[in-house]
Amino acid sequence: MSDTTKPSRAEEEYFARENAEKLRKLAHEKAMAMEEERKAELKRLHWMRCPKCGMELQTIRFRGIEIDRCFNCGVTVFDEGELEKIGVSESERPESVMRSILNIFKR
Ligand SMILES: [Zn+2]
Repeated sequence: MSDTTKPSRAEEEYFARENAEKLRKLAHEKAMAMEEERKAELKRLHWMRCPKCGMELQTIRFRGIEIDRCFNCGVTVFDEGELEKIGVSESERPESVMRSILNIFKR
């Protein structure tokens, strides 16, 4: 009888392992989906919000660049590449453009 029980046990083990592997993959996919949801939720909560006080950022366009500013606490945010644009397309020196930007927000 050992000839018939041995292969079926091996078979049982094979299917159990296959099932376990399937469940492991499912759990991994679910974890990835949860991570994506978490990122989307964080973005929804933080998008265009001040990193310090959480109030909405306002965008001011000035000489081809976009300046995001929190008018509650004064934080100024530049998107990637925006700071690099300062003074590049203008004949002015970057320092004088920077000074003009500071003047916009001077009270
Ligand atoms: Zn703020």
